[in-house]
Amino acid sequence: MKAQAATNWLRAQLAGWRWIGALAAVAAMAWLALRGLPDGRLHVYFLEVGQGDAMLIQSPDGRQIMVDGGPSPTALLYELGDILPFWDRTLDLVILTHPDGDHITGLIPLLDRYQVVQVLDAAQSEAAAEAAPWRARLAAAGIRRTFAQRGMSLPIGDLTLTVLNPGTRPLKGTTSDDNNNSTVLRLDYGATSLLLTADAEAEAEADMLAAGLLLRADVLKVGHHGSQGATSARFVAAVAPRVAVIQVGAENTFGHPSPEVLKRLAGVQVYRTDQQGRIEVVSDGKRMWVKTAR
Ligand SMILES: [Zn+2]
Repeated sequence: MKAQAATNWLRAQLAGWRWIGALAAVAAMAWLALRGLPDGRLHVYFLEVGQGDAMLIQSPDGRQIMVDGGPSPTALLYELGDILPFWDRTLDLVILTHPDGDHITGLIPLLDRYQVVQVLDAAQSEAAAEAAPWRARLAAAGIRRTFAQRGMSLPIGDLTLTVLNPGTRPLKGTTSDDNNNSTVLRLDYGATSLLLTADAEAEAEADMLAAGLLLRADVLKVGHHGSQGATSARFVAAVAPRVAVIQVGAENTFGHPSPEVLKRLAGVQVYRTDQQGRIEVVSDGKRMWVKTAR
């Protein structure tokens, strides 16, 4: 009888454990399902994709905007899979700032994996050889495509996305026309703002300053991965950011970010994807805060 009682007790214990196991599984699934759902806040994720730019913007009402895709489709899909709910396969807007490999490569296979509603492209994608597979897939999928130009303002729920660069006439004869005509975006939510400068260099910065655009922003995505030719002192002074984010690969061969640029950002809280991994900026429209993966 004793042995029987012990067996029953053990069975009851095991059943309990199974029950706890099932509860844990349900909790894990609920957590997975809730992850990436709209929470009434703006989330901007600077993804960890190595040497390149890739940002995911999630609006307070749950719309998703991708800005560039970095150099590695694998890294990008991993990052998105970790942020977005597993059933969510729609991106409301995909923006390619310019067709360089460290911005476009990850975006191309994204067009097959996600349903992309529309694309804001850069004019230089029309002629760039590197963008041929991008153009072909956009055409095959019949995705609506417009070209970024200064003055465009896109209301996305409570957000406003404004194009600051390229200007009405593209810049020519600069150190890199491709970089200097890349799409620069201003993102406003309530009293908070971010400036996403793609690979714009000093010439594009001077052009934006000369045009008298509103540049002041809380968060600056530092231009051209912290290269010395971007983030001029005048531009930093006009933006006057509290936080700067540098998307850069560890031990990259370009020496990005340049120590000179870090000096120009003295007094600004600098975050780097090579050191902190994925960087998330959250805004409730009044305040902003930053979370890092490490
Ligand atoms: Zn780049």
